[in-house]
Formats: sequence, structure tokens, C-alpha cells
Amino acid sequence: MATATYHNILKQIREDFPRPTSDPRHDAYLVFSILRALDQVDAMKSEAPFLAKDHHQDHEAAQEMQLPDDIADVEKVTQLLVSQLHGMPVWGHPYSQMNVVAPPSIPSIIGSLLPAIYNPNLVSDDSSCGVGMAEVNVTAMVSSLIGYDPAEATGVFTFGGTGTLLYGLKLGIEKAFPGAMTNGVGQNGIILTSSQSHHCRLNVAGWLGLGEKNVIEVPTDFQNGMQIDQLETVARQAIENGKKIVALVATMGTTDALGIDDLEAIWLLRNQLVDEYKLDYSPHIHADAVIGWAWSVFNDYDFEKNELGFRPRTLRALATACRRVSKLHRADSVGIDFHKTGFAPYVSSLFLVRARQEMQRLARRRDETPYLFQTGERHPGLYTLETSRSGGSVLAAYANLHLFGKTGMRTVLGHIVEMAELLREHLEKCESTIVLNSGNVGPATLFRVYPDGVDTGTILERERSDPAARDELRRHNSYNRQIFETLREQAMQGRAVHISMTSSYRKTDYGEPIVGLKSFVLSPFIDSQHVELVVQNVLEAKKVVAGRNQSRRPGVAVGGL
Ligand SMILES: *Cc1c(COP(=O)(O)O)cnc(C)c1O
Repeated sequence: MATATYHNILKQIREDFPRPTSDPRHDAYLVFSILRALDQVDAMKSEAPFLAKDHHQDHEAAQEMQLPDDIADVEKVTQLLVSQLHGMPVWGHPYSQMNVVAPPSIPSIIGSLLPAIYNPNLVSDDSSCGVGMAEVNVTAMVSSLIGYDPAEATGVFTFGGTGTLLYGLKLGIEKAFPGAMTNGVGQNGIILTSSQSHHCRLNVAGWLGLGEKNVIEVPTDFQNGMQIDQLETVARQAIENGKKIVALVATMGTTDALGIDDLEAIWLLRNQLVDEYKLDYSPHIHADAVIGWAWSVFNDYDFEKNELGFRPRTLRALATACRRVSKLHRADSVGIDFHKTGFAPYVSSLFLVRARQEMQRLARRRDETPYLFQTGERHPGLYTLETSRSGGSVLAAYANLHLFGKTGMRTVLGHIVEMAELLREHLEKCESTIVLNSGNVGPATLFRVYPDGVDTGTILERERSDPAARDELRRHNSYNRQIFETLREQAMQGRAVHISMTSSYRKTDYGEPIVGLKSFVLSPFIDSQHVELVVQNVLEAKKVVAGRNQSRRPGVAVGGL
């Protein structure tokens, strides 16, 4: 039998692309194919905050996949794609309170989808057109929001919050070691950041050639903000020892505790050090605001009038966070994640610079890129690390800023903080739970559960500071792990809220990790009954664990209960 010539196969393959010229019937096929995929995903939904319950991931089998010999059709490939979503958490589900993962809004999904079809490349506006302009628009909107002058500032989207830190530190390197792009980095550069800052600091320092060991961690206070007097001591020592401060990294919202550094004080200190030591460079200040930037929408909220009607406890939390976030304009550069507190799909991160001429330090010469930039006016590819950049990140952010506006962002953020505050209130009232990060003003709540009969008024303090409590602490650590495991089993069946666990919320004074449970409220679908449920779930889990432990006691038959 004669095999099909390539012409026949090509004809079939052409059906698998959107038509280059207007063809509403074929567009209908595209849309219908997406709809069919969504239908199949929908069939995997249940009461549980997961898509399809039982999923087993076989890594060995996964490695055995081979490139098929023959072509498949859209239908078949769609099925393959959909099946990869088995077991996915449904982030928007009100029983989903695990981590800082946002459910994306519909406009942000369309914002990601359109570039997936038309494929703008943000390397230059001759291949991105208006999508490149949207990058300018988003930069302008966020600049004004955080207090930068949009006429002075500039911004580029990059690969995650980690990417924004990389850009910030790279600018710092070029300031401290002019010409490093050509000559390489000097050996005496250091980064100063808080011990609560995101661990990507190490990765970035390693990749940039600064070296992880040159990241100096400054201790934090109980609100997880950097201790400024400690920072000053470390900075002075460093300068006096001939080090160059590549960057002072201010964390404007730690991932879990929403610890916010005092940027104003860091800025004053930097200026004073430059003056006093007659430094020939100005240590770069980068603000890691990938989480905290969104609180800027409250900068001009009238907390007295409180038009949106938040509860007093929520207002206090919002105002407290905002007091520090409102100083973001003091940073030389800022990192912003739309895929966290901006409700956009991964990855959508903006690196903002207060003074656009600083990007000049990263610029390549045009003669190094002869085949690019022959037309158009704006060529980010001349100074970005990336060459090709997707437009999806930009349009998703652009979509949400327009969708929410200031009022919508205040509403969603205010609500999630209100729900987290409500949870903390319930946990504080409950006899067997202790909120570990009380005083936290953000959407994450860390707490610890104790067996009946433990005096929760005094236990934590003892566990924290008294080495004699080591055994007790370890026993309670393992108790919290058991509670977590039980909750997880229940959550898998749609009977409990899915929360997470941290194996070390922080260390005790004598060096033992303190295990904690964590609820991260980010879904706009979470309501008061869902936070009440968390407490109820915990109490039920306590009973289950007590039953199991009972049956394991010596003298009682295992499995007797
Ligand atoms: C998530 C996070 C990062 C890293 O951002 P990615 O977008 O995951 O690369 C950096 N800093 C803080 C404070 C974060 O929460």
C-alpha cells in the first residue's frame, strides 16, 4: 500500500493551525476545540479542591515516552493535555488555602491566550506592536501607584520575582563595579538583606557570580522586618573592611508573614553611608515587593472614612502594611509579581527602575545585534537578559489592572485580609490552637495545635526558650505533623480545607525547628464559613489523631479502635 505523500499530510497539518486569513468557520473550530478541552477539565471537578482525586505520578514511566511516529489530531492531543491536569489543586476553591498561588481572572486568561495565538515578541516593538506598548502602559500605571515618576521610570517584564531580583542585583553590580558587564565582577561585592528575605537571594547571587557566601543576612525583629541598627553595623563593618555593597535588598512583604522592611530608614542609611565614607558609588536599593506591591492601592485610601466598610481589625492590618509599603518609591528598583497578589497566570513579573537611564548600564551596542531592531522605536532587547519575551505576561497584568482598578484591588485584598483576620480571631479563641504569627497583617496565618490538657497560655513561650522543653517541643512537632496528615487526607476527599505545613516556622532559642500549620487565603471565593471550617476541621482532626494514638499505647491492641 502506498503511504501518503507529504502533501497529504501537510494538508492535514494545516487544519491544526488557526487560519492566517479570515475564516470564521475555522475560528469556530479553534474555539470549539478549547471549549471541548474545558469541558473535559470540568468533568474532573468535584467538591474537593483538586481536579480528579486519584492521581499517581510514575516518574519512571514518564521517562520512557518516545516521540510518536505519526501525526495525531487536535482531539487526541487535547485529551493528552487535559489528562496532565489530574490532581491539580483548584486554586480558586474556597477549600484551597495552601500557598501564595492566585487563581487567574478571566481577562488575564484572555490576556495570556491572545499572545499565544498571535505571538508578539517583546524583544522589540517591531515584533510586538501594541503589546509592547502595553508593557509601557503597565509600567506607567504601577509607577504612579508606588510613587515613581512615570516620566522618569521604566520597566520590563521578566521571568518571575526571581528574575526581578536578578535585574536589581545586576544594576547594583554595574554601579559598584562599573564595566562589570565587560570585565566581570570584583571579588569584594556583598549583598545585604534580611534573614527573612526570599531564598532566591542565594540563587541569584550564585548565578551572578557574586557568590552565595557574599549574601549577608541581617536579623529581623518580631514583625519580620530587618533590624536597622544591625544593618547599619554590618554595612559599616563591610565598608571599613574594603567590601563594596552591591545592593541593599528590602523585602516589602515576606512570603508568609508579610514582614515589611523599613525602606525609609534603609534609604536614609544608604545616603548617610555614601556621604560619610565618600563612596564613589551609591549602593543600589532593590525592593523585593513581589508580594507587597499590591498594598500600594491603599496609599490614598481614607482609613477614617472607610468607604468600603472593612472591619476595624482589617483596617488596622491594611493601614499597618500600607504605612511601610507607601515608601516603595525610595527604592532604586522594585520587583512586582502579578502572578501572586495580582491574580494573573504564571509567569507575570515586572522589574521597575526609578531612573530609566540606569538601564543604560545594561545596554548592548546595536552592532552586536545586526539582525534585530531594524525597524520600530522601542527595543527592550537591547538591555534585557532575555532575547525573546512572551506578551502573555504583559497582557495578563494589563488586563487585571484595568479589570480591578484601584477599587477592585482594594476590595479583593481587603477581603482576603479580612478573612485571614477572622481566622486568626477564631484560632485565638480556640483552646487548643495558638497563632504563631499573631500581629501578622497579611493573608497567611501560621498556627500550632496542641493535644487536650496542654496549657496553651504558657506552652509556646516555654517551647521557644527553655531547653528543658525540648522533648515536649518535639512531641508537639510530631503531633502537628499528624494533624496535618489527617487534614490532608480529609481535604483529598473534599471534607476539609486544604492547608499546608511548614517544618520550621522558626527555630527555638536552643536551635530546634518549630513545626506550624499554615492557611494562606488568596481565593476571592473564601468566605467566613470557610475559615470557620478550618477550626472545625482541626478539632475533628484532633479526635482522629487522639483515637489513633490511643490505639498505639502499650497494653491496647493496635488497630483496636
Ligand atoms: C515568590 C517570591 C519570590 C520569588 O518569586 P518567583 O515569582 O516565584 O520567582 C521572591 N520574593 C518573595 C518575597 C516571594 O514571595
